[in-house]
Amino acid sequence: MNGMETGERKILLSGSRPTGRQHLGNYVGALAQWLELQDNLECFFMVADWHALTSTYRDTSTLPDNIRNQVIDWLSIGLDPAKATIFVQSAIKEHAELHLLLAMFTPLGMMERCTSWKDNVVEGGNDLLRTYGFLGYPCLQSADILMYHADIVPVGKDQVEHVEKTQDVAQKVNFLYGTEENPVFRVPEWKLGNAPVLLGNDGRKMSKSYGNCIYITEPAKDVEQKVSVMVTDPARVRRHDPGTPELCSVWSYHKVFTDPKHHDEVHVGCTTAGIGCRDCKKLLASEINRKFEPARARRAELEQNPDEWRSVLDAGNKAARARARQTMEQVRERLHLYTE
Ligand code: SF4
Repeated sequence: MNGMETGERKILLSGSRPTGRQHLGNYVGALAQWLELQDNLECFFMVADWHALTSTYRDTSTLPDNIRNQVIDWLSIGLDPAKATIFVQSAIKEHAELHLLLAMFTPLGMMERCTSWKDNVVEGGNDLLRTYGFLGYPCLQSADILMYHADIVPVGKDQVEHVEKTQDVAQKVNFLYGTEENPVFRVPEWKLGNAPVLLGNDGRKMSKSYGNCIYITEPAKDVEQKVSVMVTDPARVRRHDPGTPELCSVWSYHKVFTDPKHHDEVHVGCTTAGIGCRDCKKLLASEINRKFEPARARRAELEQNPDEWRSVLDAGNKAARARARQTMEQVRERLHLYTE
């Protein structure tokens, strides 16, 4: 038994730093896929709070609220604890132990070549990130993945290199301490998502710090207001000017959130000036509100009943911990480490 005989379904590990309420970019970039994947794979969805510390270690006061808001939104949109294990990274101390052990196998150059390190520290000169923790966070990611013997890690393009590093370190440990028939770790594969990138309503990258996000469970009126000021095709100055939807954020949102039966109406209407931007945005706001109305209602229920989301996390932490303990027992034994 090597901890990999965990059933027939493939195992998936994914997670995100606790950033609080989830916006439409979070939905498109990760949550929509998670909702599909939880039906067919054994999924572990992790609130990566230790990863948050790599960049926000100077002020952690918002962490508890961010975790709460994030988990409530995850449950509101339909992540199902009966199908997936939803847990908090820092509740599973074994991640820290495995991180330490993997660090012993990880060449320094491998970490220094990471794009995030080069961009932020070497070229970006961000001295606040010039820390041991930030340099090593891809190694912590490897621990997160290998802990659950994940087969699949869904990633964006910028995260592929981290899964490659995880493959490298897993293969190295397997080479030194495993056999072909009985490896220490399962070597994971990445699954590249093809999610479109949604810009914020001011046309810049969607980011909380810019205040340009539309949140999944915010009140319908706020969604209407935020959509009404979205940046559009700059060539459509007057109502009778034809537009180019491909140059307009509103169209990129329509493609994701609006019932496809309206797509022609919007596209043709825009290119022929048959519809105005105001009507186009009204339709978008009503489609977003229609889609997320059940999540909004569910969120209100969960906020009234904190025991419910807390018990989901308690159960998820317990299940993740059991799996992590099993993995670590095997890893310690393979590495000839002291055991009591
Ligand atoms: S009609 Fe719609 S898609 Fe076209 S420019 Fe206006 S808001 Fe954008």
